[in-house]
Amino acid sequence: MLLPAPPRTLLLNASLEPLCVVALPRAVTLVMSGKATVLESDGRVLHSEHVVVPLPVVLSLTRYVHVPMRRPLPPTRRTVLQRDDHRCAYCGSHADTVDHVHPRSRGGRHEWGNVVAACRRCNHRKADHLLHEIGWELRWTPSAPRGATAFLHGAAVDEPAWSPYLAA
Ligand SMILES: [Zn+2]
Repeated sequence: MLLPAPPRTLLLNASLEPLCVVALPRAVTLVMSGKATVLESDGRVLHSEHVVVPLPVVLSLTRYVHVPMRRPLPPTRRTVLQRDDHRCAYCGSHADTVDHVHPRSRGGRHEWGNVVAACRRCNHRKADHLLHEIGWELRWTPSAPRGATAFLHGAAVDEPAWSPYLAA
């Protein structure tokens, strides 16, 4: 039986810390093999020949897995826009570019504290200026993302059933 399925499932460690996002076939395999339990389902079930599995939206591993420290998430166009929720740091409108607050041409570094989402208009107008030269201010102070959002490496965190498990 084919159902419109959630494309991905949030996988938690046995300690309930978010681990990663897995595709549905992998999620079902984990459940069938007893390696994970379904914490949240969207109410639908998958029928196979022998078993019925609630369609997993959130899973937790039955046994704790030690996860080594991961390298910090680098700032890229995608991760910066996601951190800033696609809002321009200068005017607040929809942003689809990334701006270096202290321009690279003037020694600014490519690091979380110096990159913000910016709309095309502001990015173009700001060009190679420093903020004080044109009297602009940032609407927030950029910093590296923390917690589960960073941990999931920019996976779209748009599944409402996931949010209780992703509170950083
Ligand atoms: Zn703008």
